[in-house]
Amino acid sequence: MRVARIIIVGAGIGGLAAALALQRRGFKVGVYERASEIREIGAGLIIAPNARRALRDLGLDAALAAISSCVPLQNTCDYATGAVKSTTSTALIVAKHGYGSLQVHRADLHRLLMQAVLANDAGSLHPGHVFAGLVQDAKGVTVTFTNGASDRGDAVIGADGNASAVRSLLFPGEATTFNGQIAFRALLPAELVPPSIRKLELGMYQAPKRYLLHYPLRGGRIMNVIGVGQAAQWEAEGWAITAENDEFANAYADFSPEIVAMIRNIPPGELFKWGLRDREPLATWTQGRVTMLGDAAHPMTPFLGQGACIAIEDGLVLARAFAASETIVEALLRYENARKQRGTNVQLWSRDEGRTLQDETRIRRTAFDRGLFDYDPATAPV
Ligand SMILES: Cc1cc2nc3c(=O)[nH]c(=O)nc-3n(C[C@H](O)[C@H](O)[C@H](O)COP(=O)(O)OP(=O)(O)OC[C@H]3O[C@@H](n4cnc5c(N)ncnc54)[C@H](O)[C@@H]3O)c2cc1C
Repeated sequence: MRVARIIIVGAGIGGLAAALALQRRGFKVGVYERASEIREIGAGLIIAPNARRALRDLGLDAALAAISSCVPLQNTCDYATGAVKSTTSTALIVAKHGYGSLQVHRADLHRLLMQAVLANDAGSLHPGHVFAGLVQDAKGVTVTFTNGASDRGDAVIGADGNASAVRSLLFPGEATTFNGQIAFRALLPAELVPPSIRKLELGMYQAPKRYLLHYPLRGGRIMNVIGVGQAAQWEAEGWAITAENDEFANAYADFSPEIVAMIRNIPPGELFKWGLRDREPLATWTQGRVTMLGDAAHPMTPFLGQGACIAIEDGLVLARAFAASETIVEALLRYENARKQRGTNVQLWSRDEGRTLQDETRIRRTAFDRGLFDYDPATAPV
């Protein structure tokens, strides 16, 4: 089935990983993105060994490692004093899995994926296209966009994130809901970070109804800070809603003085907040010639740090399923069979871990503890 042309809606990390994996197996792709300029936000991302195996298959792991951080220790700390309570050694993870987790600037990973996709086919990316609808028949699928454009392909992949319009069209009446948690995120130049936190590099703090995580990016030149806490309501939508330092510092005022000082040092305009959204697992991701991947298929809370990792895995396994199949329907069936249980598990386990992270009396079970790093998307059965 080497001649299939596949339309992907959404040029996020999952959509681009799928596009690249498909191109590398000889398929033609067209990727449609609503943003008028295709780029990622300034934020951190942990890319764990399971996703690094996919990036190695895509030819990008070494380039990403060269521009990212890989801290030697992951520290769990007391939120009120900052004292280290336990550590996980990266050497232990490398010994078991062959790779450590990378701390990555999202824009760096996104740029590498995008450059590779464009190098394979300069005409494959189409910014400024908001998905409007699709119609499928026995021979293909026609996709339309709100700017009046349309395209026809053999299959369509919804990779349009946790508020996926493709999902809403396939499975109407199933909306995203605010899951009662608000995240603050910021990137700080290293010189604005208190020395003790800079030295610690990666710190995770469980606190009543909140948790905070910081880790370095780009070899330590930048510190990424995320705080997630419970909140009664949230109405805005988007990744770029600015917040005031006071709002973040006041909500985390009982954290160690160094953490509060770091929050207060966030440069003006560099602090953002957003409400986390959730959806229930679906019985199926596929209808005929249309399926979904990443957050569109299994939107997950960030508490296991696996959303982008699983989206990258999806992209590679999808391409392997196409390469192994005689028909589109067979390819999408193989893909969903290979991925559904894992995507659903991680979605539900992330939710569970969220409860633990905001209750310092519960014992954490990280992605490592849960065996998520064992999976190899380049060789797993499809
Ligand atoms: C606070 C936080 C921290 C996180 N940390 C980690 C981490 O450390 N490690 C990790 O692996 N994951 C992490 N995640 C999860 C990760 O960010 C997501 O799971 C991942 O981005 C999902 O990728 P995606 O490609 O499926 O969706 P997205 O990244 O959301 O991309 C979807 C794309 O589709 C486009 N789009 C949307 N609607 C339309 C439309 N109608 N038409 C056309 N295009 C459209 C969007 O503009 C976007 O480009 C974190 C998430 C949060 C919130």
